[in-house]
Amino acid sequence: MRRSADELAKMRKAGRVVAEIHEATRAVIRPGVTTAAIDRAARAVLERRGAGSNFLGYHGFPAVICTSPNSMIVHGIPSEAVVLADGDIVSIDCGAIVEGYHGDAAYTVGVGTISAEAARLIEVTEASLDAGIDQLRAGNRLHDVGRAVQEVAEAAGYSVVREYVGHAIGTAMHEDPQVPNYWPGSPGPMLKTGMVFAVEPMVNAGGPETVLLDDGWSVVTADGSLSAHAEHTIAVTDDGPEVFTRL
Ligand code: MG
Ligand code: MG
Repeated sequence: MRRSADELAKMRKAGRVVAEIHEATRAVIRPGVTTAAIDRAARAVLERRGAGSNFLGYHGFPAVICTSPNSMIVHGIPSEAVVLADGDIVSIDCGAIVEGYHGDAAYTVGVGTISAEAARLIEVTEASLDAGIDQLRAGNRLHDVGRAVQEVAEAAGYSVVREYVGHAIGTAMHEDPQVPNYWPGSPGPMLKTGMVFAVEPMVNAGGPETVLLDDGWSVVTADGSLSAHAEHTIAVTDDGPEVFTRL
């Protein structure tokens, strides 16, 4: 779907709130913090900005962010029982609704001092997202995004998750079409100005296989390897990709 200038202006506002949540949650992440405390930092931003949460209540999800440490790939539930420790990495995924329009973005960060291997995984995941974003240009095809993401991740010796993907976004968080983080064997739709997508590579240090835990939400790597996640909401514009969820 192509969004009007008025719609894009609202999505820009939603994206700005998401970027502010990233800033506020990064500020509280340190050894000893619970993932519930990170969720509270995110809720404070939503309240201050008068924005809605597209995570809270989504198929019953109980928080405004997902917190996924170490080998957890995505969809971890914030909890007073999960205490982050020095050397962990944690993925924070969050969204906001402003005037009926959605933003969605994620980042992965180290807790305290992390290993060089963990730092490299985060760097490569961010680089794969940047490579995907750079493909969001009118005239390209949607699956050019996944091809670029996959090339960066696999060149570094990592794998990309197949079961969970990015998506178009607008008046709902998850709209069609999906945005795979790999080449799915066909070029996909033609990109046009005004389309908006959430691109979100999930990169595993080991194999790409995933396991859903018994809580019905938490997705972990099947081989126990570390996983990182990075996401932005981006519009295709006449001037190239515009990232809405970056300050
Ligand atoms: Mg997200
Ligand atoms: Mg998303």
